[in-house]
Amino acid sequence: SKEDVQAFLRKNAFVLFTVGAVVVGIILGFALRPYRMSYREVKYFSFPGEVLMRMLQMLVLPLLVSSLITGMAALDSKASGKMGMRAVIYYMTTTIIAVFIGIIIVLIIHPGRGSKDEFGKQQTIEQVSPADAFLDLIRNMFPPNLVQACTQQFKTKYGKRKVHVTVTVNESLFNSTNGTQEVMEVTREEVIPIPGQVNGVNALGLVVFSMCFGLIIGNMKEQGQVLRDFFDSLNEAIMSLVAIIMWYAPIGILFLIAGKIVEMDDLTQMGGQLGMYTITVIIGLLIHGVLILPTLYFVITRQNPFIFIAGLLQALVTALGTSSSSATLPVTFKCLEENNRIDKRITRFVLPVGATINMDGTALYEALAAIFIAQVNNMEMNFGQIITISITATAASIGAAGIPQAGLVTMVIVLTSVGLPTDDITLIIAVDWFLDRLRTTTNVLGDSIGAGIVEFLSRHELRSRDVEMGNSVVEE
Ligand code: ASP
Repeated sequence: SKEDVQAFLRKNAFVLFTVGAVVVGIILGFALRPYRMSYREVKYFSFPGEVLMRMLQMLVLPLLVSSLITGMAALDSKASGKMGMRAVIYYMTTTIIAVFIGIIIVLIIHPGRGSKDEFGKQQTIEQVSPADAFLDLIRNMFPPNLVQACTQQFKTKYGKRKVHVTVTVNESLFNSTNGTQEVMEVTREEVIPIPGQVNGVNALGLVVFSMCFGLIIGNMKEQGQVLRDFFDSLNEAIMSLVAIIMWYAPIGILFLIAGKIVEMDDLTQMGGQLGMYTITVIIGLLIHGVLILPTLYFVITRQNPFIFIAGLLQALVTALGTSSSSATLPVTFKCLEENNRIDKRITRFVLPVGATINMDGTALYEALAAIFIAQVNNMEMNFGQIITISITATAASIGAAGIPQAGLVTMVIVLTSVGLPTDDITLIIAVDWFLDRLRTTTNVLGDSIGAGIVEFLSRHELRSRDVEMGNSVVEE
């Protein structure tokens, strides 16, 4: 009928606009490059993109908290325990596979080949053991101050010419005390396209708190009803806000991408090792995102993974535009619930957790980059060191916040764990803005496919809960 056609168009208009925005953004960016805009002009030009980032980030905190609390409260503790186990097994398995792909591919392609010996500078570095990394992860799960956990700032200063970048991340795996710590200081002589201030939250800590809180109020009788209703209603309200922001998203994405292309370094620098490195990362991410994850989805659910991925298109493009999985979270919710019809009890529960701890792209990237830096320094990694790299890369990906270039920062821990020079992070900074977008897209894809798989595996629990609650049960 006519309404159907209209509904179809409206649904696809989003996808069309968003994909179109990327294409137009790329074209516009390259068209404007010859004009060599000043730093200030670039900032003005990308302003619509900055506004999108801010709008999405604005929603992350209430969305994360309300969705997790209602998600947990809607399940009985036995069911949520089972689903939680499934989600965790999925996260761990796919992250380990990703790390493995990163290592294999960098060893085969060997992008760091051809370094002169002069590169092999010796440094004395304080080593971080995998145990330290693990303890830090646990520390961050329990923020001593909840209010502070909501308002922490991720500050990155940027500039041109001689730049001194200080990256501060509260979720650092590198801190020995609680709270915000400076993780990395870099001095470099060229342009460092590191994004501006990003407001963040200690997502990991809030996830742990919200899950426990949701579980508790889910188990309360009458007394819990007020809280359950409150968070339910909050969650609905936030999702309605997301729907409005999605109309603006294509414009924001267009300018985010165009602005980035306008200000990026000359591509001529991309020759040699750095170019090979970029290609290696792309191949690794493609193998994971286009081959491994879809295959896993198909093997478990027996459904076409590419139809599932088509429903996610807008979230994937938003990830590409924002390079932040937490900023993308609202869009991921929309895509999974509306296009792919994933049960809200699943999305509310697994998506916030996934966006915080499940980062396949980041894990793959960190392991790969560490070995690349070893290759550039003509250092051979032995088997034990490679195992250490895979463990710390996994921990670092869990600990990385879902904000732009967080993975670059937590890489310090991977490098120090095997005695590689942390200063050499500067070698890959020039291409990181680009690779960050790709690994963020992979991260979001991994979270979404995880939601699909967990829903499939949990269909019986969901059904029996429906029967118990007297909900109408949809037959398969
Ligand atoms: N930007 C990535 C994300 O938000 C994290 C990273 O830097 O690897 O998922």
